[in-house]
Formats: sequence, structure tokens, C-alpha cells
Amino acid sequence: MCGIVGASAQRNVTGILIEGLKRLEYRGYDSAGLSVLDKNNDIQIRKNAGKVSNLVDNLKESPAKGTLGIAHTRWATHGIPSEVNAHPHSSSDVAVVHNGIIENHDELRSELTDLGYKFVSETDTEVVAHLVHHYLDNQLDSSDSLKQAVQKTIDRLEGAYALGVISARAPGVLI
Ligand code: GLU
Repeated sequence: MCGIVGASAQRNVTGILIEGLKRLEYRGYDSAGLSVLDKNNDIQIRKNAGKVSNLVDNLKESPAKGTLGIAHTRWATHGIPSEVNAHPHSSSDVAVVHNGIIENHDELRSELTDLGYKFVSETDTEVVAHLVHHYLDNQLDSSDSLKQAVQKTIDRLEGAYALGVISARAPGVLI
């Protein structure tokens, strides 16, 4: 059973995200990861198979800092436990963590592949990242928001799930 943490603050949130993941470790998981929006407004992702301590080691070697972030411990349902299948999943400037199952991921994957999106993981989750990106790119009105893109995405998803989403196009917005 996976866990999701999100944080937005006026200071670096990496430590908050890691502490949240540690508190969720009792739920059981096979991999862990996080994403922060850094000071250059770039999405940074660090993820590993195995324990949260592996993620902490990864961050020591390759620090990631930002005031907005999402984090995840994964219990695999679609795709083996591995670094590439670990969350967050991304589509350019969008990062997503996901708990649960997207039942119609096969048909969404075909649709998104036809639109030119490239998939790197075996997860059902990756369709969510690409759908949010697609709806951000195709908003009719430039005042439309990340929230609206996520709402349009959710309209397409079948299953029982929870999501955490951030985007470089919406600094400070945590969904
Ligand atoms: N279905 C997703 C996966 O296999 C999420 C699993 C979870 O809830 O951790 O990556």
C-alpha cells in the first residue's frame, strides 16, 4: 500500500517530504521517490527501488531543493518494482505521484502514443503525467490553470486512485 506526501513552504521542503515518507513506511512499499520544483523553476526528480534510506543516500549524492514538492512510496501494481517504475512520473514540466489503479490505462496509453508521447515505464501512472501535460498544452484560455488540466485528466480516468501533481507552469500550486 503506497503513501503520498506533498509540501509547499517558504523554505526547502525536501526534508519535510522525506520525513513524511518515513512516517508512512509502516504501510509497506517497494520503492520511493520525490520531485521538487527548484529555484530555476525546473522539475527535479530523485527515485530508487528499495527503502527511503536509498532515496536519502541518492539525495546526499545529488541534492534536490525547492519550496514545492511531492513524494511517494510505491506498492507496485503495474510494472515490476524498479527505479524506472518508481514514482514520481513526469511529462516534460509535469510530475505526478499516484496511489491506486487506472483501469483504462491501456486505451489512454494508445491515445497518447498516437499524439506523440513516449512512455518510459510499465506503470499505469505514466498516462496521468502525459494527460496533464496534454491538457496544459491544449488549454483554450491562457488563464486556465493546472487545476483545470488535472480536472480534465480526472474526467478521463477510470479506477480508484489518489494523485499528487506539480508543474513548472504553476509554481506554488500543489494538487
Ligand atoms: N499503480 C501504480 C503503480 O503500479 C501505483 C501503485 C501504488 O499505489 O503504489 O505504480
